[in-house]
Amino acid sequence: MTEVTEPPTKKPKMAETSLDNFIENIKNSKKNLMAILSDEFTKPTQFTQVYVGGVNNVQDLSKIIMTLNEKLPLKELQHLKRARKHEVILCSVQYLNTQTQKTIQEYIKEDVYELKDAFKYFKVTSLPAVPPKLKKQQQEFSRVWSCNFHPNAYLEKLCGDQFFSVNELIEHRCYMAIAFEVANYYLSKLKDNLLITDVSESNVNATVVVDPTIKSVVAISYDNRENHPTQHSAMLAIDNVAKTQNGGAWNTADKSGIHNELQSHIKKKFANVKFGARNYLTKEVLNEQKKNASESPYLCTGYYVYMVREPCVMCSMGLVHARANRVFFCFKNNLKGALCSKTKLHCVPSLNHHFEVFTEFL
Ligand SMILES: [Zn+2]
Repeated sequence: MTEVTEPPTKKPKMAETSLDNFIENIKNSKKNLMAILSDEFTKPTQFTQVYVGGVNNVQDLSKIIMTLNEKLPLKELQHLKRARKHEVILCSVQYLNTQTQKTIQEYIKEDVYELKDAFKYFKVTSLPAVPPKLKKQQQEFSRVWSCNFHPNAYLEKLCGDQFFSVNELIEHRCYMAIAFEVANYYLSKLKDNLLITDVSESNVNATVVVDPTIKSVVAISYDNRENHPTQHSAMLAIDNVAKTQNGGAWNTADKSGIHNELQSHIKKKFANVKFGARNYLTKEVLNEQKKNASESPYLCTGYYVYMVREPCVMCSMGLVHARANRVFFCFKNNLKGALCSKTKLHCVPSLNHHFEVFTEFL
């Protein structure tokens, strides 16, 4: 008798996955999250052209360096060590071009007279234009020239793939699963048998704001752009946080920052999750405690924000203003995303607040 084997079952495509199953996967996956970092961590090293001189006598090196530091300071190339073996950096090609029409030989001979006989040759070489941020960059850079480098243990960890501990990961995944459950809750009012494509291939967005110091959900929101052009999920979430602090402009949730019916729905599915904000310190209380009102935190100071989809520029800027501490999102927003897809707003140096961004929940 021939053995009958089952035909191989195809891995279900995302389109065939029910939203409920998907939420379970988000919650239970062991995959660590990845930080979205500025380009200086992710893009190939930028190089700049510099003039290098080979010294005649290595014993003169320290004297040569002292003279060069005085006459031709490295300025924007401070991250590079001045000398390597018998060679020294003289200046960047761009610097000489902006200063004079002279060649490097003429410039040293006429303007750094003390060193006119110090070099046996001059050459142009490409060296890293920016300081190394990570050990691996420093190792790469040091193959071409020695660099000044101060390792930063936090950054090294942030760039690795083990940033969150197992317990932290469980928490982050749980809060993201709640964001999906919020989407599930609202969508199921419109439609039965929801598939993950109902969320992944539409503009649906939902936001969960968490106070990590008390491990509690402070506010929840769901997109309302159909009825109001600026009521994106993150903007509503910020407004709902404001409601927990005696504020808020939109009449979309009760004073707790979370709609009661939605809260009981989520409690049924996530029994261990805590809800509610810390007691809000009013100006009067702060005055009683002899604290200045300006010492009170901004709306989302220290809060973590979990979003189904990458926020747009308006929402991301709103989260900057509200001083969110970390933003987590699941799906990229290829057309309008401001934290990865179109730009990285959280990496703009001129902004006065920067939050961390994490993704890769899938
Ligand atoms: Zn938005």
